[in-house]
Amino acid sequence: MQRRAQRLTGLGTTIFAEMSQLALRTGAVNLGQGFPDTDGPSEVLEQAVRALRTGRNQYAPGPGVPELRQAVADHQRRHYGLDVDPDREVLVTTGATEAIAAALLGLLDPGDEVVVLEPYYDSYVAGIQMAGGVRRPVTLRAPDFRLDTDELRSAVSPRTRLLLINSPHNPTGTVLDERELTAIAEVAVEHDLIVVTDEVYEHLTFDDRVHRPLATFPGMTERTLTVSSAGKTFSVTGWKVGWLCGPPDLVASVMTAKQFLTFTSGAPLQPAVAYALGLPQSVLDEARDELEGKRDLLCDGLKRIGFGVHVPQGTYFATTDVRPLGYDDGVEFCRDLPTRAGVVAIPHQVFYDDVAAGKPLVRWAFCKRDDVLIDALGRLERALA
Ligand code: PMP
Ligand code: GLN
Repeated sequence: MQRRAQRLTGLGTTIFAEMSQLALRTGAVNLGQGFPDTDGPSEVLEQAVRALRTGRNQYAPGPGVPELRQAVADHQRRHYGLDVDPDREVLVTTGATEAIAAALLGLLDPGDEVVVLEPYYDSYVAGIQMAGGVRRPVTLRAPDFRLDTDELRSAVSPRTRLLLINSPHNPTGTVLDERELTAIAEVAVEHDLIVVTDEVYEHLTFDDRVHRPLATFPGMTERTLTVSSAGKTFSVTGWKVGWLCGPPDLVASVMTAKQFLTFTSGAPLQPAVAYALGLPQSVLDEARDELEGKRDLLCDGLKRIGFGVHVPQGTYFATTDVRPLGYDDGVEFCRDLPTRAGVVAIPHQVFYDDVAAGKPLVRWAFCKRDDVLIDALGRLERALA
């Protein structure tokens, strides 16, 4: 007898855990899993220490500590002009991952269809499946990875309940533009769909590109759950403090599911994230500019080595086509890479239903110290160029 529920069929170990283990085992430079190798602002860390030392160590309230809910509401108003009630329209979660999982569990019935951009972040597949939903991917295709709005329209059926959107998009680095976001909003309104939008890279957009939340588009406030997280914005991916904002009835449904997953977590970290969200714009600008420099360092180096490089508009990740280097399969390339070059990267194709669309593509994380990126490029150049 198989001791595993059918709802887990096809869900193995995440590619990120697998590749990080491979990097550890082989001593390779890890440009796979997206986590920074330096800490965020030290004053934010100090706030967490202070909270630990001043008795903030018991359960936080289920929806999140009041100062963090208020800080999220202030953030939405300051950056996007969105009016959010901190008491009824904000829910603090264990990272964006739990926000998305709880949203899917709280909003989907078995057989409901979810239209989702692919390549998708891997937890979406698991979340949809565990909630009994059915995914209907819309593919962002190389080389530009733009949204085909006709494909989006034709993915919607009478069974569609929800659109699951991600922008800035992992792994392609696409930042959806005005036209694409307008099309998504029109489809959602026309078919009366709920939209869950994962905006964890909201502050990591490059070349003066502006991130616009879907919730700001006409007809969207009342149907959109906007998800974000402290991990990427403040370089604290291990804290797993996330949140979502949206209309009270949707937030209440997510809360019902969430309270039986974790109830609450990260009590002493929540006040520190509230503090971080109140830091001046210059802190976000500096972090973004530094990351943009790393993007250019990595992308220029990968081009020199001979990869076909897609320079991302946002996120932590660059995508390359490995065919100029004599491979046609990114999985094979990434399997060879640690021993051949001493570097770990992530094959795109594990993020697709349309495996052929992702086959020659490989994702590289550049949220690393410059010396680490230079070391990785040196290794790649010696082994591949
Ligand atoms: N969504 C996307 C697109 C991501 O890249 C990640 C990884 N950080 C997450 C969600 C998960 O975020 P968290 O670590 O806050 O759960
Ligand atoms: N979000 C990170 C990435 O895309 C990894 C998160 C994880 O390991 N689950 O690489």
